Amino acid sequence: MFTTKNILYSALTIAFSACGYSASAQDYRLPAAHQAEHSDLIAAQHNVSDQIKVQDTELFLDNLFTEEEEPELDIYTEGWDSQNVNCYRNAVVPQTKEINVSKFAMPCPGYMTSPYGYRRRFRRMHKGVDLKVQIGDTIRAAFDGKVRLTKFERRGYGYYVVIRHTNELETVYGHLSKFLVEPDQYVKAGDPIALGGNTGRSTGPHLHFETRFMGYAINPSAIFDFENQTTHTDTYTFDKRTYENARDYSPRSTKSSASLASSGKTPTTAASTYTIRRGDSLSKIAVRHGTTVKQLCKLNGLTTSSKLSVGKKLKLR
Ligand SMILES: [Zn+2]
Repeated sequence: MFTTKNILYSALTIAFSACGYSASAQDYRLPAAHQAEHSDLIAAQHNVSDQIKVQDTELFLDNLFTEEEEPELDIYTEGWDSQNVNCYRNAVVPQTKEINVSKFAMPCPGYMTSPYGYRRRFRRMHKGVDLKVQIGDTIRAAFDGKVRLTKFERRGYGYYVVIRHTNELETVYGHLSKFLVEPDQYVKAGDPIALGGNTGRSTGPHLHFETRFMGYAINPSAIFDFENQTTHTDTYTFDKRTYENARDYSPRSTKSSASLASSGKTPTTAASTYTIRRGDSLSKIAVRHGTTVKQLCKLNGLTTSSKLSVGKKLKLR
């Protein structure tokens, strides 16, 4: 009796014969190198159960979050109107500068979808943070100041606003859908300046937010605590030397325990554990908490290539 399987098998045999492929698998002679490649592939296979851990899925999503965005051109150095944007080109940037950030407003209430830092995939810096917004959400001025530019840059920022603040910082707001201010207009911290959008090189509605000091892109997360919708301290200390030394460093680390102690705040280095967040790497955590990657690995039984799981606690000391 013919079963469906038999019929299929016969059909396949006929098809193979018709094409002249009647030989069985062992008749094929594969080059030794090819065989070696197969062995390597088999050796490199991971246990299937290892691949479906929740943490791994989270980590995968985190990496996706960090890298799915297209890289923005740097309007200060690369945009077609960079002459206009970077008016600090020949200015002497001080080694350090205390910046008063006590009177502030969050640019939008959205959570961070992509942190500041080096993006390996695009081999370039992401000079701001990306914050979740819906198209049409109100975007607010982070500090008091004067609108310097409202422009369009199709290869990167889309519709963007640059505000120069009285504390000498500049903030940049990108991928907007509508301007609510005009150049030279004075704004107070918290004033609506634009509506959120998805213009320019953007894969979904978000706000690209930068904080600059004389053209230097500072990590906005060093000033703002986006998770808790506040600032870390009342004064942010810009340090040019530290900025220049590390592409992916978090300026929050430049605050020494001493200066934090004198400001009356608890130094971040005092914490003994740390909960891993999106966008973290061992080196970032180490720098931020005044320790080393080596020490973190030793304390937590990790290697430098260990994957970090968001939400997991790390011993710091
Ligand atoms: Zn961005």
